[in-house]
Amino acid sequence: LEEQLRQSQKMEAVGQLTGGIAHDFNNMIQGITGSLQIATRRLAQGRTDEIDSFMARAITSAGRAAALTHRLLAFSRRQPLDPRSVDANALVVSLADMFRRTIGERIILQLVQAPGLWKTLCDPNQLESALLNLVINARDAMPNGGTLTIETRNAELDKDYVRRLADVRPGQYVCVSVCDTGTGMSPETISRAFDPFFTTKAIGQGTGLGLSMTYGFARQSEGFARIYSKLGEGTSVNLYLPRDVNEAEADIVQPEPVRAPVA
Ligand code: ADP
Repeated sequence: LEEQLRQSQKMEAVGQLTGGIAHDFNNMIQGITGSLQIATRRLAQGRTDEIDSFMARAITSAGRAAALTHRLLAFSRRQPLDPRSVDANALVVSLADMFRRTIGERIILQLVQAPGLWKTLCDPNQLESALLNLVINARDAMPNGGTLTIETRNAELDKDYVRRLADVRPGQYVCVSVCDTGTGMSPETISRAFDPFFTTKAIGQGTGLGLSMTYGFARQSEGFARIYSKLGEGTSVNLYLPRDVNEAEADIVQPEPVRAPVA
């Protein structure tokens, strides 16, 4: 049953993905066809005025279609996960300079690190790109500056807590939150933000893949992700990644072996 559920979730994701692509691709093909039709008709009438501008429009649409397939290939060629025991505090510290360069000087980066943070089992490279995606989104949401907070904490979710959450198992997680004091999202945007290709950004500014890849990474790592946001106040995206249970076992202090008294 669980396998079926996973399979149907996968098909749903594939359906959303192909639906979105088909729609975008169709618009671009229509742009190409329409421009070429007008150009052909004019040439048939012996006219050459504006032919170059219709040709240029067709070329632009073809270029956008090519860029879309390029992004799609990059999306499907995602590397397989290589899970390791990761110290998220150390990872965030090692990325702080890169994040600061990304957000510029008007946004303040603040790190809040839980002491005694559990290790998490996930692919550190993919966690890095997920965090970078979230940092870029936070930056884009704070064009006039603000504060970006990256916070880590241990999170123990019990059966009662997860009862109404379809994608969450009870257990121990490491939570990494990326919070901004930016524009925030409307409830409508929140509900679609994880969808592939959903973007409110201008053409060429956003791909709509950042959050869907971040969510996909969290799910593949057997964790999950949540968005908390309020228009005009800011956004917090929480990544929940599973605790590395092997490390948890290593935490248990072994009693000293009792030595047999020497006779
Ligand atoms: P992209 O950033 O390319 O648009 P994403 O999947 O990363 O794609 O985000 C989808 C949409 O979710 C964005 O276009 C934006 O509307 C919204 N969004 C994501 N992060 C934030 C944020 N930190 N603050 C406000 N809106 C956000």
